[in-house]
Amino acid sequence: MQALKGFKDILPDEALLWQRVEAVARDVFRRFGFEEIKVPILEKTGLFARSIGEATDIVEKEMYTFSDRNGESLTMRPEGTAPVLRAFIEHALHLRRPINRLFTVGPMFRHERPQKGRLRQFHQLSVEALGSDHPRLDAEVIAMARQILVELGLSAALQLNSLGCPACRPAYRQKLIAFLGGHREQLCEDCQRRTESNPLRVLDCKSDNCRRLNAAAPAILDSLCPSCAEHLAAVRRDLDALQIPYSLNPFMVRGLDYYTRTTFELLTDALGAQSAVGAGGRYDGLVRQLGGPDLPGIGFALGMERLVLLLQEQNALPSSGPDLFLACLGEVAGAYGFKLLDRCRLAGLSALMDVQGRGLKSQMKQADRLNARFVLIIGEAELASGQAVLRNLVSKEERQIPLAAELTDLLRVVRAD
Ligand code: ATP
Ligand code: MG
Repeated sequence: MQALKGFKDILPDEALLWQRVEAVARDVFRRFGFEEIKVPILEKTGLFARSIGEATDIVEKEMYTFSDRNGESLTMRPEGTAPVLRAFIEHALHLRRPINRLFTVGPMFRHERPQKGRLRQFHQLSVEALGSDHPRLDAEVIAMARQILVELGLSAALQLNSLGCPACRPAYRQKLIAFLGGHREQLCEDCQRRTESNPLRVLDCKSDNCRRLNAAAPAILDSLCPSCAEHLAAVRRDLDALQIPYSLNPFMVRGLDYYTRTTFELLTDALGAQSAVGAGGRYDGLVRQLGGPDLPGIGFALGMERLVLLLQEQNALPSSGPDLFLACLGEVAGAYGFKLLDRCRLAGLSALMDVQGRGLKSQMKQADRLNARFVLIIGEAELASGQAVLRNLVSKEERQIPLAAELTDLLRVVRAD
């Protein structure tokens, strides 16, 4: 039997990189005052249709939707914002904190064509900051997304745009429809349809013809109302203050309908067509649209598969071996070693010993294959003298270590190297 197409097993060596990505992100979240929220993978289909938008690629053709045994239409979450906002509203979290800074980590599901960095089950670090429309919050959230990459040793280019608000976007939409209508024959079939249903999405089309045409389309940044223009200017001032470089891209529209004002993407050129490692934006009307209080918010998601791929491309593979392998010869040494192993583990080392009854030579081979950093060899002579040889498998250096009750010397050497 095999895993489903687009669904991937993450094997132990790769899982180490995942742990590193998550640990770094969690530490950045903590420092920026973000708290974890865990939400279900399944939700009622309507939640996504109402938030992401009926005429988006995700809702039109990418969702895993099915009827459960009671005939209710359920969907496996394609993104994190809608479920987190549903929980935020359901539990009235706005009464708990004036600004809720939330993050969640977990799998998302989209029925897309699998490629490098594009899966059907993928994972996001997903972030929402709810309760303020201050542009400083936008800059803070963008700075946090970037900080995660920086601390992973990765770099990505930041692109920034504003999608305006209900006051100014309709006029832009009309301008865009007029422009697209005048070049209908140059648009791909999908975009001819989108011109009516969701014209901004045309700007996101990857087909060559549409892209060429889009470069000449009117830019949304020229249509912003004064308050959206000032909001963007304030975000830019704060990014400049933090010396965060970015470029403005008036044609970056994002694939979800709920965005207002600030949107941004973090792009890399190291992953072929899958260039976005993360993306997000403001969604000031969404909480109310989902039946909650009229509270603004902003969020983003980083794609964990893409972060892991980038780490792999940099050969940033952490060593995966145990600190110590105990090679024991004979029954008596084995029984002694088993207790020593336990003490090493309680003292914080990762330690292993043979459980297959092998001889010394093959135990040494095993230690090598496990990528252990140290081997401690214990036979009857060692038990008698209370001294054993500790070998550093990296430097090949050896030294005599007393097997005294506290293991002081052993722990000091293993921890120091
Ligand atoms: P793309 O343009 O690559 O399709 P997107 O705009 O659909 O991305 P978002 O919905 O904004 O992506 O999700 C945020 C991040 O989640 C993306 O930047 C990407 O890193 C990751 N992501 C999205 N879809 C997938 C997928 N199918 N497989 C792996 N990662 C994904
Ligand atoms: Mg997509």
